[in-house]
Amino acid sequence: MKKQICILGSTGSIGTQALDVIEQHSDLYEVYCLTANNRYEMLAQQARKFRPAAVVIANKDYYENLKALLADMPDIKVYAGAQALDEIVEAGPVDMVLTAMVGYAGLSPTIHAIRARKTICLANKETLVVAGELICRLATQYNVNILPVDSEHSAIFQSLVGEGNNEIEKILLTASGGPFRKFTLEQMADVKAADALKHPTWDMGAKITIDSASMMNKGFEVIEAKWLFGVEADKIQVLVHPQSIVHSAVQFADGGVKAQLGVPDMRLPIQYAFSYPDRLSLNAPRLDLFKQPLEFFEPDMKKFRCLAMAYEAIRQGGNMPCVVNAANEIVNEAFRHDRCGFLQMADIIEATMQKATFITKPTYDDYVATDAEARRIAAEMLG
Ligand code: NDP
Ligand code: MG
Repeated sequence: MKKQICILGSTGSIGTQALDVIEQHSDLYEVYCLTANNRYEMLAQQARKFRPAAVVIANKDYYENLKALLADMPDIKVYAGAQALDEIVEAGPVDMVLTAMVGYAGLSPTIHAIRARKTICLANKETLVVAGELICRLATQYNVNILPVDSEHSAIFQSLVGEGNNEIEKILLTASGGPFRKFTLEQMADVKAADALKHPTWDMGAKITIDSASMMNKGFEVIEAKWLFGVEADKIQVLVHPQSIVHSAVQFADGGVKAQLGVPDMRLPIQYAFSYPDRLSLNAPRLDLFKQPLEFFEPDMKKFRCLAMAYEAIRQGGNMPCVVNAANEIVNEAFRHDRCGFLQMADIIEATMQKATFITKPTYDDYVATDAEARRIAAEMLG
């Protein structure tokens, strides 16, 4: 029986690479559903090729367009709207849901997928940043596996295979450092979106590329690691590793350190989430350790304040990471459209953290309210 996969965000960077993996292993995997937000033409092309049972376009404005493009393929059901995402992940045949959509919008369908007992291949880290406690509690309650797709977390996960209950002493979370690693604060004050979108080692979607440049992405990954592996943030050390070869490592009680290495290629962690615990062949470049030295540096939290704020948010706990995520989504988008300076992003996030209502033990409804409140506060500061 082929595994039936639902890809949330199939038109994005992770989504398209996941389709490449599925194509390479079409004897094992089948696409049950593909979804996008706006890019309905690409979604229709993907649907023609992979012939899923259903497609969902989150933005309802494009429903008619998508439907018209697939009019000659009556076997493919076409749906629209955010609620359709919540429903499609619950469909009986679905075995695995790859959460490859960007941002807070990933939270609700992920919760629905867990409640329907679907295996989660988690790329959408914002889900764990916003509501890590809730997601982990639900995953335990419904006995659902959450398999990390983020390369660092996949590396940690791979390093933990066979370790049973052996305790993690420390997580070594690597970061490329982004395009502004060597910039001074003065230089960083003037950078534009086009500069930030030139990532040195990874080719990713626009939002995460900006988050990588500010190192908010690494802060989010600290929070993601805390929830995925049950390790407190003070035991998660970020290492700037410009080559992006060591994808992260785990240190154990005896001082032993296990890491996973490879060329920067997201198809490996995507495929490993699909095939775990098996390893499948992957037609991709191999690592050549003779090619370059491997370097490691301490991150500069004064320059990259977003990283420090993410640590602070997880230290405070409650809804604070949700506040940071919401404010970050606002300033990230504003920066991409030249409505916010690069360093101003951290200022606005910090001020939002101070102004937003703090909730120690948030429920799902509290997260929804927090997200809305923090977005409003951050947007007001943009003017
Ligand atoms: P992209 O921007 O490339 O793709 C995002 C996808 O989500 C697109 O299919 C987009 O549709 C869809 N989408 C966007 N907004 C919504 C919405 N509101 N509702 C429904 N669908 C939506 O992002 P990436 O692939 O780079 O990243 C996806 C997730 O994976 C993020 O959470 C990111 O942090 C994480 N991740 C990504 C990595 C990477 O290498 N790219 C590495 C590790 C984690 P449309 O095309 O129509 O806009
Ligand atoms: Mg990552």
